[in-house]
Amino acid sequence: MKAIAIFPERRAVELIEAPAPRLASPTDVCVRILDVGICGTDKELCAFKYGTPPPGNDHLVIGHESLGEVVEVGPAVTRVAIGDLVVPMVRRPCPHAECLACAAGRQDFCSTGDYTERGIKGRHGFMTESVVDDERWMNPLPRALRGVGVLVEPLTIAEKALVQVRLVQQRLPWARAARGAAASGQRAVVLGAGPVGLLGAMALVAAGFETFVYSLGGAASPRARIARDIGVTFVEAEAVEVAALPERVGAIDVVYEATGASRLSFDVLAVLGANGVFVFTGVPGRRAPVEVDTDLLMRNLVLKNQVVLGSVNASRADFEAAIRDLAIFQSRWPEALGALLTGRVPIDDGTELLRDPPAGAIKNVIAVS
Ligand SMILES: [Zn+2]
Ligand SMILES: [Zn+2]
Repeated sequence: MKAIAIFPERRAVELIEAPAPRLASPTDVCVRILDVGICGTDKELCAFKYGTPPPGNDHLVIGHESLGEVVEVGPAVTRVAIGDLVVPMVRRPCPHAECLACAAGRQDFCSTGDYTERGIKGRHGFMTESVVDDERWMNPLPRALRGVGVLVEPLTIAEKALVQVRLVQQRLPWARAARGAAASGQRAVVLGAGPVGLLGAMALVAAGFETFVYSLGGAASPRARIARDIGVTFVEAEAVEVAALPERVGAIDVVYEATGASRLSFDVLAVLGANGVFVFTGVPGRRAPVEVDTDLLMRNLVLKNQVVLGSVNASRADFEAAIRDLAIFQSRWPEALGALLTGRVPIDDGTELLRDPPAGAIKNVIAVS
């Protein structure tokens, strides 16, 4: 069967022929892969910035944002059935008994760093025709979401972040979001209008936040149109300086960072409102250090009761929340949601798409079958 793999040692990205996987345990399922999304992580894997092949392999099959269909189940499988659409989880727990997070099924908070991730670290990914995995990593998806299900995994980033925001806001018992009610009256700023940013904006709007997207790209861009279609104010970074954001937005209660740009992020941290929460989700490349006004940031953190947190990966509950939210997005904003998917190619053309993505693309997908 076909697969797209990176060979880190000889710095190659190739369409390869891989052996078809077989069920190995009674709780295994075999999933025929339908769609695989491409994101910045895949671009970095293809630039050999990281990416660890499984032990004993010279290559790593990439792909972690996937949607598939169950085609075979082991005799003890109960969570899914043949014909179900599923979105598999990406991260697997580390082997250390002392890691309480992994032991608790929360490998997204793994404290040893020895977790594995399909398509990224130590395990082959989903950019291939079929995969076998234990049923506990599978999240069933309603058939009606077949066309957009590949967006579940990138949406889980926002879902986990929103859980963290709600937990932090429990210290503000008068805030409605803290009580699980709609976050009306609260303002959220999303940094960046890529797929993670726009999906995060949808999740924030659905949660009741008055939401703003701050991004480059211009008010006439397709990204800005998607933002407007979902009821978000697109603030052009070219036209509005960070220092002027509070004037434009009002007091900022939540910032959802989805750019990986550290300079911009710390500039925005300096204008976060009282009792505000700043969530980092991007992983910056390593560039030259930049100067930040540490006195100002520290003063603000203390005098304004602010919280800064980072969030990575996602739990099963976050996948389930993403699937629920995707159904809401699909019924509220079918066109805007569909507009996130800008490119779709067969696996034979996948290496080309990875090497040379079309300008202005938002989310490109490899349609495996
Ligand atoms: Zn991704
Ligand atoms: Zn762990």
